[in-house]
Amino acid sequence: MEPGAVSNKSNGNGIGNHRQECEFDIISWFDEVSENAGFVQRETLRRILEENYDVEYLKKWFGDNKIQEMDACALESLFTSLVPLASHADLDPYIKRIADGDTAPVLTKQPITTLSLSSGTTEGRQKYVPFTSYSSQTTLDIFRLAAAYRSRVYPIREGGRILELIYSSKQFKTKGGLTAATATTHYYASEEFKIKQEKTKSFTCSPEEVISGGDYKQSTYCHLLLGLFFSEEVEFITSTFAYSVVQAFTEFEDLWKDICDDIREGKLSSRITLPKMRKAVLEIISPKPYLASQIEGHCYKLQSLDWFGLIPNLWPNAKYVYSIMTGSMQLYLKKLRHYAGDLPLVSADYGSTESWIGVNVDPFLPPENVTFAAIPTFCYFEFIPIYRQKDSCQAIDDFIEDEPVPLSQVKVGQEYEIVLTTFTGLYRYRLGDVVEVAGFHKRTPKLNFICRRKLILSINIDKNTEKDLQLVVEKGSQLLSKVGAELLDFTSHANVVSQPGHYIIYWEIKGEVEERVLQECCCEMDASFVDHGYVVSRRTNSIGPLELCIVKRGTFKKILDHFIGNGAALSQFKTPRCTSNQVLLRILNDWKIKSFHSTAYR
Ligand code: AMP
Repeated sequence: MEPGAVSNKSNGNGIGNHRQECEFDIISWFDEVSENAGFVQRETLRRILEENYDVEYLKKWFGDNKIQEMDACALESLFTSLVPLASHADLDPYIKRIADGDTAPVLTKQPITTLSLSSGTTEGRQKYVPFTSYSSQTTLDIFRLAAAYRSRVYPIREGGRILELIYSSKQFKTKGGLTAATATTHYYASEEFKIKQEKTKSFTCSPEEVISGGDYKQSTYCHLLLGLFFSEEVEFITSTFAYSVVQAFTEFEDLWKDICDDIREGKLSSRITLPKMRKAVLEIISPKPYLASQIEGHCYKLQSLDWFGLIPNLWPNAKYVYSIMTGSMQLYLKKLRHYAGDLPLVSADYGSTESWIGVNVDPFLPPENVTFAAIPTFCYFEFIPIYRQKDSCQAIDDFIEDEPVPLSQVKVGQEYEIVLTTFTGLYRYRLGDVVEVAGFHKRTPKLNFICRRKLILSINIDKNTEKDLQLVVEKGSQLLSKVGAELLDFTSHANVVSQPGHYIIYWEIKGEVEERVLQECCCEMDASFVDHGYVVSRRTNSIGPLELCIVKRGTFKKILDHFIGNGAALSQFKTPRCTSNQVLLRILNDWKIKSFHSTAYR
């Protein structure tokens, strides 16, 4: 939705007109919708419902209520009293019918011709979500808004380039002939992606053939090659999730000699076998022997520094690195900082396949402190207050819930699960993300991403979320830093096959670490879980000692390959922090080098 579209519908608040007058001042537009967030939210809901009130799903709940004649306040309370909260599973049968070719207005009045696949790397199963032109438009809007905030702090040269480490997955047709792919894939293929480059006056280094090549190793090579070919012009380096930046530069440590040869001679390594990609890249590059020698010189020096400061050395005009660095991406911050040296890390915005949610209005903040201002025009938000259960014996539910509240009623310091009602046919849809309200931008809440709501580690009365696990792993891995080693990636598994059940944490590490230290890391993690259920169960030995498994270098790359092979896109990839997936467990166990059992609680 175009910024201001809420008020374009002549609601009389003048925001839409104001937006049109200030086409270039997207920040003023955002300030205004944020100032009127409660009002704008009700209008957003009214628009969604006016457009779609007679679709099958809504009719089921609204019955004969004549919603067209209602004012926005009455409509809001009717909507939340009649339409139930829904999970993806509740909407799945409707979405499936659409995927199978049912053209009746099931969820939206406008026919849905495209479906997105959520990455599925957090919950293990990819889910279909409707995608419309509205989805690409909001992506363009948030990118422009975020770019405006960034350029206030870190201005970039107009007409410069961006090294965008982005990847499309394959598009395919559903049974009913709808195009399906990840949301990022749809976006990179859309007009809006081209418009974004023009509006933000920054152009990506790689052509479409590299982004959508479908082989992430070949795409990464070409992204790096072209990024270096245009290195003088590159203003910033970006990817969707920080994982891809770290992954690309880790590859670079092995690829740089071949890349330099290609730049020197204006040729392309034989490792690039995709004809379209080869052709497109060869049309761009030409011999640059001086640049190749310069890069080589830097790389020899960087190698001796373990690649510290790789980015500013090779991209001397880059102003920052921009990517999602919050949530499960925090693990990669250390490595990212290592590559970025003194270059600022700017944490990118908060969104999901279902909808964009919030923008980082404080790009100068370190990623650890970043919050996201909810955008009140993109969808209608509700927030379910949630409280962690302290002494419950029920492992089924992880939190106690209160009644959902609208955006205008959230409280600072409270944790909530986000609920979305979108223009793309999701009604009171539980996103499954937990956020904390950290403050306000005008009158729209600034959200601190906490974690996915689903419990990830639980054996009996213990309940640990992704965030709990992350904190524990951070503590344990501090001991690694002290001996000059680093944690590259991790995941976990609640093993209930052997009795008593116990947690297994898998680590891939870089550097030599004595067994004594790893044993200490293992105990440190076991002792660092603060969840009462875990502590009590460990004391009584109803949960066994935590096991730390060290896996061979390259194990998590193999896991990535497994996901990509199943259709996930690198741009949306997130290492699952807990898994029960048998294929993944087989990889992890086959590649296990050593394991340690905690002696904490003895
Ligand atoms: P996907 O399933 O690929 O659509 O991924 C969307 C999910 O990624 C969200 O629901 C969040 O859990 C996570 N996510 C997206 N943006 C951020 C962010 N800025 N910080 C932390 N987590 C995020």
